Amino acid sequence: MLYTSTRDKNVKVSSAEAIAQGISKDGGLFVPTEIPAISKEFIDSLVPLSYIERAKKILALYLTDYTAEELDMCVSGAYAEGKFSSEKVSPIKRTADGKNILELWRGPTCAFKDMALQLLPYLLTTAAKKTVADKTIVILVATSGDTGKAALEGFKDVPGTKIMVFYPNDGVSPMQKLQMTTQAGENVAVCAINGNFDDAQNGVKAIFTDKQVAAKLDEKGMMFSSANSINWGRLVPQIVYYISAYCDLIENGTIKNGEEMNVVVPTGNFGNILAAYYAKKMGVPTGKLICASNANNVLTDFLKTGVYDRNRSFYTTTSPSMDILISSNLERLLFHLADENDATIREWMGQLSKDGKYEICDGVKAKIAELFDAGCCDDEGTAATIKEYFDKGYLCDTHTAVAVKVYDEYVEATGDKRETVIASTANPYKFSAAVLKAVKGEIPADADEFEQVDLLKEATGEECPAQLATLKGKTPRFTDCCNKEDMVNMVYNMLGI
Ligand SMILES: *Cc1c(COP(=O)(O)O)cnc(C)c1O
Repeated sequence: MLYTSTRDKNVKVSSAEAIAQGISKDGGLFVPTEIPAISKEFIDSLVPLSYIERAKKILALYLTDYTAEELDMCVSGAYAEGKFSSEKVSPIKRTADGKNILELWRGPTCAFKDMALQLLPYLLTTAAKKTVADKTIVILVATSGDTGKAALEGFKDVPGTKIMVFYPNDGVSPMQKLQMTTQAGENVAVCAINGNFDDAQNGVKAIFTDKQVAAKLDEKGMMFSSANSINWGRLVPQIVYYISAYCDLIENGTIKNGEEMNVVVPTGNFGNILAAYYAKKMGVPTGKLICASNANNVLTDFLKTGVYDRNRSFYTTTSPSMDILISSNLERLLFHLADENDATIREWMGQLSKDGKYEICDGVKAKIAELFDAGCCDDEGTAATIKEYFDKGYLCDTHTAVAVKVYDEYVEATGDKRETVIASTANPYKFSAAVLKAVKGEIPADADEFEQVDLLKEATGEECPAQLATLKGKTPRFTDCCNKEDMVNMVYNMLGI
């Protein structure tokens, strides 16, 4: 199977090349030239298998230039016993009122990003061996909090790689910041920027596509790649868990093979929900894809009106991993829905970067209306939802709460009774202050992050994952903070060039 660029259909690369490069030279994103179809029988055959075995079979459909041995090595390493705190890797919990919560945060950093970022280093180093032999891969990451830590953890001390993470200084939770600034590893660096996530993401994209910077790295035997969800190697592992969740619903008797499930996803960069779209297109019986946003509701408006307009206030919310006004992966969806017309995508993305705004054509609007529903929830609604579901027996984090709330409103508006999977994207202890406030109504003004952790434990009886609890008292290793104009110099510093 070959991959092309959303902005230039003449591009044709293998999956290994797409993963090694991260982003196409024209600024477009790599997409598969065809979406592989799976049959009802194929799904049946996956049901009795473990997550690792399911993943191997599904990934083989997309990564056709990886050998079976390579995929076996990659997948078995990524999801090895002990790395995830559930034998199922991403287990489904059923709430008292019949919601299927897909817990995607059982990995080493307690956020759903681990599902892909435990696998990506294996996929990427295997790809590099096939395509760029002896180059050092330099991973640059812009993070709204969770990607950074998950990428650092995935790439730490992986031979032949270096990784540098930029995060918005005031845009991540104290726990997220501490997770990143205390990161171990010889090949890692972390830097705050004065700006928000979009500034960090735009800065990283600009560095990636700067020919001079690329030439300088090339001279030194290095090349950039991306661990953000613009990299196909980030997206493809996410398709696996939607198919696997469908299999789990069959296995536990919630649905019969062939029945549709809805999927609800708390959305930021549009990677997670796009993976659910690919699963649907492959043949997983899926009803609506429901996109949940926080107060930064640019996607809600877009999916409902067809007008994408980032010219609006940016809010710092209690669900910071969704504080995003430019959702990069939307470009992939639009490419598929616009009959793979790269000129159309160039036009819309050109308008987005020039005016911060574009309107899609009626044909694509109609397809979106068929596939998607969308809603948003502010911090107040998020807190009320955490409390409501805690009282019903399920404690969720702020991002998951946004999804739960949007789904409840969807059901109220439509009466849709289909079984529904809600993506749960972080452990509640990553956002202790907001979750504690929601559960207790208030928190002592002087309580620090770890006092809040203790109070949350006291209030809920839920255990704090060890990898968060043991951050207490650790001294940060990385304390740099730069302006967005200086990001490229920080990169040079880190690489010593
Ligand atoms: C990254 C993240 C999201 C948003 O996911 P996208 O794939 O960027 O849409 C939601 N919740 C949490 C906790 C995250 O870390």
